Amino acid sequence: MMKKIDWIIPGAAIAAALVWFTVQNFTAKEGKMVVVSIDGAVSGTFDLEKDDEIEIEGAYGIVDKLVIKDGKANMVEAGCPDKVCVNMPEISEVGETIVCLPGRIVVEITDGKESEYDSIAD
Ligand SMILES: [Zn+2]
Repeated sequence: MMKKIDWIIPGAAIAAALVWFTVQNFTAKEGKMVVVSIDGAVSGTFDLEKDDEIEIEGAYGIVDKLVIKDGKANMVEAGCPDKVCVNMPEISEVGETIVCLPGRIVVEITDGKESEYDSIAD
């Protein structure tokens, strides 16, 4: 009896976690975009839903490599001296950023529609 009860709670927790993960995963796939800016100017906009590898040529010849995978963007390689951007956590929520200061590169997650209006306004 005790052993059965021991298994029910973790089982329920795992089931709840799976449901939560599925819901999170689903909501994460609503038009989020990865906007790459260099020195304050948008240089590229990418779909966060599509797995991709992007080489970003920043300032001073610094080239960073950004990987978009499973709805998350992560800086995996960088030509900058400090590698702060590589050590930043991957981003997936609107408003989150990865910044490479030496390369003047900013990677930001935006709502797709908002970024469209932003670029028209610019
Ligand atoms: Zn960097």
